Amino acid sequence: METIRDKVDIIAFGAHPDDVEIGAGGLLAKEAALGYRIGIVDLTRGEMGTRGTPEVRMEEALQAAEILGAEWRINLDMPDGNITVNHENIMKVARVVRKYRPSVILAPYWDDRHPDHVNTSRLVTEAHFKAGLKKLEPELTAFRPNIVLYYFLNRMEGFSFVVDVSKYYARKQEAVNAHYSQFGDAGLKPLAVLGVKAPLQFIESRDRFQGAQIGAAYGEAFLVRSPVPVEDPLKVWGG
Ligand SMILES: [Zn+2]
Repeated sequence: METIRDKVDIIAFGAHPDDVEIGAGGLLAKEAALGYRIGIVDLTRGEMGTRGTPEVRMEEALQAAEILGAEWRINLDMPDGNITVNHENIMKVARVVRKYRPSVILAPYWDDRHPDHVNTSRLVTEAHFKAGLKKLEPELTAFRPNIVLYYFLNRMEGFSFVVDVSKYYARKQEAVNAHYSQFGDAGLKPLAVLGVKAPLQFIESRDRFQGAQIGAAYGEAFLVRSPVPVEDPLKVWGG
C-alpha cells in the first residue's frame, strides 16, 4: 500500500537519462528549491547512445537528480530505441503515478524527431488517463494527476506558458553537464544530442529565447492541452 510519505508534487518522465534535464531542468530545480517534492522517471537506460555505458549513465543521472533537488529517480528498463506504446508499458507508468500521486506530471512534447520521445509522450498521456480508472488493477488505488505538462526536446511549436527559471539556470546547466558521457568534451567531438551539432548551445539559446518572451533571462516553455486558468490577470499583467 502507498503511504502519504510516498507522495510527490511532480513526476517528470523522460525517455532517456538526460531528457528531463534538457527540457525541464530549470522548472524542477525551481520547484524543489520552493520546497516541493520532485520525482524523476527515465523509461530507458539510454543504452543505445553512442557513448556511455548504462552503468555510467545511471550514475550521471543520479548525480543530476541530486543537483536538481529531486527526492528520487527511478528507471523503468524499457528498451532504448524501441519504446512501445502497449498496455503493459502504459501500466508500468500508471503504477508509478498511482504510487506517488503527483499533482503534475511532465512528458516530452508529442512531436519530435526521436521516436522514443514521441512514444514516451503517448505512453505518459495514456497512463495519466488510465491511472484514474478505478476498475483497472484495483489493488492499487486509482489516481489521476491534475495535468500533463509537455516539455520540449528537439522540436518546439507553440506553447501555453513560459516559466521564469533565471535564478535556477546555473543549476539546470550543472545537471545537464552531469551527463558527462553525453556532453563532456573528454577530448572527443561533441555528440549530436537532439540531432544538433552543438546541443549545449542549442539548449541555452532556446532557453534564453523562451525567457526573453516573458522578459526573463532564461525561461522554459510548456504546452498543455487545456486552457491555463488565470486567477487575476492583473497579477500577471498589472503594473
Ligand atoms: Zn532523449
